[in-house]
Amino acid sequence: MSASLKAKIAEVFDERGCERNQAKSEKERKTGCTRQLSPGASAGGCAFDGAKVALQPVVDVAHLVHGPIACEGNSWDNRNAASSGSTLYRTGFTTDINELDVVYGGERRLFRSVREIIEKYDPPAVFVYQTCVTALIGDDVEAVCKRASEKFGKPVVPVNAPGFAGSKNLGNKLGAEAILDYVIGTREPAHTTSFDINIIGEYNLSGELWQTKPLLDALGIRILSCISGNGRYGEIATSHRAKVNVMVCSKSMINIATKMEQRYGIPYFEGSFYGIGDVSDTLRQMVRLLVQQGAPDDLIGRTERLIAAEEARAWGRIARYRKRLQGKRVLLITGGVKSWSVVAALQEVGLEIVGTSVKKSTKEDRERIHEIMGDGAQMIDNMAPHEMYKMLRDARADIMLSGGRSQFVALKARMPWLDINQERHHPYAGYEGIVELVCEIDRAMHNPVWQQVRIPAPWGDDGETLDAVQRQVPELPTPVPPLESVRARAVGVESAFAS
Ligand code: SF4
Repeated sequence: MSASLKAKIAEVFDERGCERNQAKSEKERKTGCTRQLSPGASAGGCAFDGAKVALQPVVDVAHLVHGPIACEGNSWDNRNAASSGSTLYRTGFTTDINELDVVYGGERRLFRSVREIIEKYDPPAVFVYQTCVTALIGDDVEAVCKRASEKFGKPVVPVNAPGFAGSKNLGNKLGAEAILDYVIGTREPAHTTSFDINIIGEYNLSGELWQTKPLLDALGIRILSCISGNGRYGEIATSHRAKVNVMVCSKSMINIATKMEQRYGIPYFEGSFYGIGDVSDTLRQMVRLLVQQGAPDDLIGRTERLIAAEEARAWGRIARYRKRLQGKRVLLITGGVKSWSVVAALQEVGLEIVGTSVKKSTKEDRERIHEIMGDGAQMIDNMAPHEMYKMLRDARADIMLSGGRSQFVALKARMPWLDINQERHHPYAGYEGIVELVCEIDRAMHNPVWQQVRIPAPWGDDGETLDAVQRQVPELPTPVPPLESVRARAVGVESAFAS
């Protein structure tokens, strides 16, 4: 590992904004927060993957992966981050190094690749990602980027987070460090206002930023830059002139918020745009800080009026679902800040949370969940798929909300499932988003397909009788056809086979 990368990792591990980190001894801090892998457990993405997913939502930049083509394939488009303009971020660029490059070095190929991209696409900047192989053969990505930048007169930003450096979460932070070192503060905005904010850690998944932006527009608050969802290079470069930083996914890019506070005196707070109560609280905290930073006092009154109107509208739209969802049990398998913010949002509409995963959650996230769910909170550290299956099969939950990887557990148990993770295709942020989430849960839970798939096969395995099979079916949230009609169909099928 190069000396500069080692120093950068040590800097990232010494995170001032994390109370848990600061409570550690210096020696413990050096080892970072990554947990030791256990054999057989999935390891998650590598550091390169983390840096790439954190920065790829900057939409007008060319993201060039310096390494074997598989690294680009590994991280390709694994977030459903949306853009309101440029689609360059969705073009995959890689130097695709081969055996000869491994022997002779890949720096020339990298330089030529940067030139080709600039000539063909003329992006405002090129982000160059280091990977394991090119780091191991000693390619100096930082030096090549510096040379290319001088030669072509364009920012060429090295993102030094090779996969072996550590976890995906570390990669998020190393990606953020690249933004801090090479982008933020390099340009001045055309004008500034007392209402300028940055949103940090928002990736505009399925267009979630567009569910919160109208609220800010209504208050006259300007998003100077969003890091990184729907981000533009030029906007991020001017983000040091914002009055307040709103951090919405603390684990991924907290170092941007803390370092911008140290370097430019921009205060930050951690908010959430999931759930009616949390959206209102986040708006309140945001305007309070803006007023402290010099915005006019009347902003607070205007915000309260907006909150009252939006909350009433959202509750009005949710009312029709509340009756259908009241008391339904949810198993929530997600992580980090999403655990508590989604728990709060679901409880608001009367759903019961039978368990929530806390595998990726920080101590503060866990405390927050405890606060929201009370003493009976079932926090699941690491639930094996067969335990998830059993929980669903025994009907201790009516629906599972999770990422795509565990969807097949739910489908195997013939229980409704909804994608809540980064690959989801529905935006759930702001007042608008919670209505959408409730609507999607209702649609998933009351989809008639469950009636169909839960009808047992007319003959059981190993000669089981129809009654025995029927008894294994858990209590259903929606009525199934009476047993007689199932039996009649079974007899019909059997006699068709017999004839
Ligand atoms: S671990 Fe290394 S080789 Fe694998 S995807 Fe990450 S950077 Fe590429």
